[in-house]
Amino acid sequence: MNAPLPLKITRATAAHAYEDVARLGNEVAGQLAARLAAETEGEVLFSSADKGRYATDASIYQMMPAGVFVPRSMPDVQTALDICRDMNVPIVARGGGTSQCGQTVGAGLVMDHSKHLRNIIDLNAENRTVEVEPGIVLDHLNAALKKHGLWYPVDVSTSAQATLGGMAGNNSCGSRSIAYGNMVHNVLGVQAWTSDSTLLQLGPYAGSSGKARELGDYVRGLAQQLQPEIAQHWPKVMRRVGGYNLDIFDPRSERPYTTDGSVNLAHLLIGSEGTLALTKSLTLQLSELPQAKVLGVVNFPTFYRAMDAAQHIVKLGGGTLTAVELVDRTMIDLSLQNPVFAPVIRSALIGNPAAVLLVEFSGNSKTELLPKLRRLSELMGDLLLPDSVVELVDDAPQKALWEVRKAGLNIMMSLKGDGKPVSFIEDCAVPLEHLAEYTDALTEVFKKYGSKGTWYAHASVGTLHVRPILDMRREGAPKMRAIAEEASALVRKFKGAYSGEHGDGLCRGEWISWQFGPRITEAFAGIKQMMDPLNLLCPSRIVNPPKMDDTRLMRFAPSYTVIPIRTALDWRAWDVQNDPATELTSAPGSGGDPANGFAKAVEMCNNNGHCRKFDAGTMCPSYRVTRDEKHLTRGRANTLRLALSGQLEGLKAEDAFTSEAVYDALDLCVGCKGCKRDCPTGVDMAKMKVEFLHHYKARHGYTLKDRLVAKLPDYAPWASRLAPLLNLRDRIPGLAALSEKLTGFSAKRTLPQWKSKTFFSAPPRTATREEVLAADKPVVLFVDTFNGYFESENAFSALKVLAAAGYSAHVATKKIADGKSLCCGRTYLASGMVSEAKAKARELVDALLPFAEKGIAIVGLEPSCLLTLRDEMLVMGLGEAAQTISDHALLLEEFLAREATAGRLEMLKAALQPVSQPILLHSHCHQKAFGAVSPIMEVLKLIPGAKPELIESSCCGMAGSFGYEASHYEVSMQMAELSLLPAVRKQPDAIVVADGTSCRHQIRDGAQREAIHVAQLLAQQLPA
Ligand SMILES: Cc1cc2nc3c(=O)[nH]c(=O)nc-3n(C[C@H](O)[C@H](O)[C@H](O)COP(=O)(O)OP(=O)(O)OC[C@H]3O[C@@H](n4cnc5c(N)ncnc54)[C@H](O)[C@@H]3O)c2cc1C
Ligand code: SF4
Ligand code: SF4
Repeated sequence: MNAPLPLKITRATAAHAYEDVARLGNEVAGQLAARLAAETEGEVLFSSADKGRYATDASIYQMMPAGVFVPRSMPDVQTALDICRDMNVPIVARGGGTSQCGQTVGAGLVMDHSKHLRNIIDLNAENRTVEVEPGIVLDHLNAALKKHGLWYPVDVSTSAQATLGGMAGNNSCGSRSIAYGNMVHNVLGVQAWTSDSTLLQLGPYAGSSGKARELGDYVRGLAQQLQPEIAQHWPKVMRRVGGYNLDIFDPRSERPYTTDGSVNLAHLLIGSEGTLALTKSLTLQLSELPQAKVLGVVNFPTFYRAMDAAQHIVKLGGGTLTAVELVDRTMIDLSLQNPVFAPVIRSALIGNPAAVLLVEFSGNSKTELLPKLRRLSELMGDLLLPDSVVELVDDAPQKALWEVRKAGLNIMMSLKGDGKPVSFIEDCAVPLEHLAEYTDALTEVFKKYGSKGTWYAHASVGTLHVRPILDMRREGAPKMRAIAEEASALVRKFKGAYSGEHGDGLCRGEWISWQFGPRITEAFAGIKQMMDPLNLLCPSRIVNPPKMDDTRLMRFAPSYTVIPIRTALDWRAWDVQNDPATELTSAPGSGGDPANGFAKAVEMCNNNGHCRKFDAGTMCPSYRVTRDEKHLTRGRANTLRLALSGQLEGLKAEDAFTSEAVYDALDLCVGCKGCKRDCPTGVDMAKMKVEFLHHYKARHGYTLKDRLVAKLPDYAPWASRLAPLLNLRDRIPGLAALSEKLTGFSAKRTLPQWKSKTFFSAPPRTATREEVLAADKPVVLFVDTFNGYFESENAFSALKVLAAAGYSAHVATKKIADGKSLCCGRTYLASGMVSEAKAKARELVDALLPFAEKGIAIVGLEPSCLLTLRDEMLVMGLGEAAQTISDHALLLEEFLAREATAGRLEMLKAALQPVSQPILLHSHCHQKAFGAVSPIMEVLKLIPGAKPELIESSCCGMAGSFGYEASHYEVSMQMAELSLLPAVRKQPDAIVVADGTSCRHQIRDGAQREAIHVAQLLAQQLPA
């Protein structure tokens, strides 16, 4: 036991791969790893942490694969296939791993196509077709198509992370499938390898030859033989994704698979879940981007009436109706609780509806679409619901409302406690005329089993999503089966499809024979036998599947336990249980977590993969530059979960948590808190990293670098006195290199320059404690170490601005002077020294409490420092006082924006001089995480003539000390180059505003431009 981890297998180490892997796993895995490393260029990941990270997807299942392979090229895929065939090792193809039914969970070699195989091979804009590699993500494809006025319209909710290969594997469907259909309706051709390495070219049956023709003829024969069974058993709905598409020769889908009624053999692979062939490329049918959209929000007094109305609404539109999506009362309420979304949803409501349907029409112009909205209102009048439609014609409110619909789902997913909304009957599809009766009956089933479900999504096609809350660690599995049985009876009664969107996988495979009967099930086995006689590709899926409630295949089996941990931070808020019927949670600390809530916080990750997105949000910068599952929020959460629950092979449970395997996974986490804001379930990896480092460093010890970073606030007073000497590091050639060797700080970086004269060495005269407590317009300024010692001009500027606005500002100081300044403890937290951070935070609380108790705002300048008061300080065991301070802690721009809204900033506004240059704003990650970006934009707009432009950037890559470290330099620069530095370079004349000290440093290093704090810009615009 206790073998060294992690395991790095490269071509250079291929010779040892067998011994290394065989020792940890088994002989076959050892040989497999050795051959993959020697014969391909791909990444060979066989450590137990790597395998664990690929053991799950967005389902409830978990199976340890033999290993993971990340091919760099198509020849790599073929070679890996050859090796696996030689060795009889199954292959589980994978894209983003966002499947909900366990499609990518399997015991063989998991092959991740998403990292390198993501090219557009051939775009023919004129014919509206594109050929792509399977690993390309839908949003990335659509971003490339936009300039041609085209898009690929299968708009799955996971469009930011779902790959086209995965979408084809699952026959995915989007919100607008009523207009555009599913994957099967939009794929023209597939190139794929069968398990004997034959490359099939699948397209129109009529023009097929060779193996493809043989396959087509075989399936055609089956379809002919089984015509009566197909007629009897095949669901006649638009959404059916279970089994294989045997109906290509006997069309059953409400929407024909091809526009001319011909047969396309590529469709046989769509929805085959990696069981028939490995996709090499896909040829897709593109659509024109709609020029205009309008949205009608129909308000219903009862859920039943909403469901009943769907069948009538879908008849509207004459080809322009593109979505009918449900938002139920629970979702409405959840959205109303969110300050950002509340006004948006409120503007779409009439009274207090039980449900709303979002009805979208798309076309060439808004003018052309307006009559459709009128027709919708008339229809609702006919259905005795006059005046029930809110019309949203402009794009902005429509977009905002779609965001609300997504956010509502996210809040639902963030339920704390072991009971979770479980996806297993989430996408049964029933004919629209039965939707109301079906949803009513299923709600009663949930009640019977002490649970409830929130309904949402695709009313247009009879596929409503619903997830009853179940505790899979306890009685979840039998309840799941019982509910599934009753749901299936309803599906049969209403002649629906048991699997209407999310596929079969481990969860629904056993329902295939239920749905299609024995003869069609046998035919599916025949198709599998013909294409994969070796049973090499995703075995035990679709054909011979396991039981859905086999707890040996589950992530949270009843045997799941975690190690006890005495946590450094307070995680009790996660240590709760919930009542599935009411969703109320028990008191903090009562959840029974031996890790005091930390494990339950980690387990909040449900693997949905949202952290793989690349759009404007912050999450997750380290994934964006590496595209490694390991350097992704999900990968980190999984690594922590496996370690805490003793599932890292080769490591004793008590050692696993503080192992190198976990350190490695967390190493590139920059603590940006992007996940805290963007992760649907609120996984807060930055905080988890602090907890981890505390334990890891306690076992392995602190480095000199750790101490230099952490204790900066303590040695800053004397270091500033030695400024000329210490600054020599960046002036004398060779010293930086020497210091890199000694400290680990990169020689390629300059370090922040010490100053002899600082804000703290020569503080200005400001209001005393007594004066501010008695002042009419009081404010307390918390000057942090960085702005106090390195960039004092920011602190002076803030005071100038506050004075110009008529405030009596007091600079907070320690209660008992000891020559040091107040500190939030951030640098200690970053190094895992939580006890020291707590001591600093306690001093800060003592100093600030009297002001906070009087309701006086505590204003700070450095986002990561000030926002510590609103975040980590609340979990340091400092009691109510910390909460009181948190309630009054504001960034300067938040304070000014608040005061401006209250009409108390007229003096400042009158004094500000106009600015003529463009202004570019880079917001600090923690500003983004705490919603403090719009205040800074508002404040910048107070300057006459200012038209600030926000750089849509993720983390700048510096992230406190992260980017200064030699081991992180390259990654840090890559993060900066993603969008920040190119945006800054593009506008050489712009004033660049960045409130974060390290962000400014990164901009200086990477773009050779001086960015300034907003306080400084405001002060510059004031008369001297
Ligand atoms: C919150 C949430 C919302 C969702 N919303 C939707 C939705 O709106 N509509 C919808 O349809 N689905 C939805 N899904 C399910 C899922 O996101 C989609 O099915 C998605 O298309 C899967 O893409 P992926 O890249 O993650 O594929 P994966 O999960 O990685 O793989 C999917 C299947 O494709 C196979 N596969 C992958 N690559 C290949 C290849 N090269 N060759 C052969 N087989 C391959 C895999 O073996 C697997 O069977 C949702 C999931 C979640 C978690
Ligand atoms: S970390 Fe959050 S966003 Fe990422 S997979 Fe887990 S739950 Fe989803
Ligand atoms: S804190 Fe930032 S870098 Fe770390 S996991 Fe979250 S999003 Fe990724």
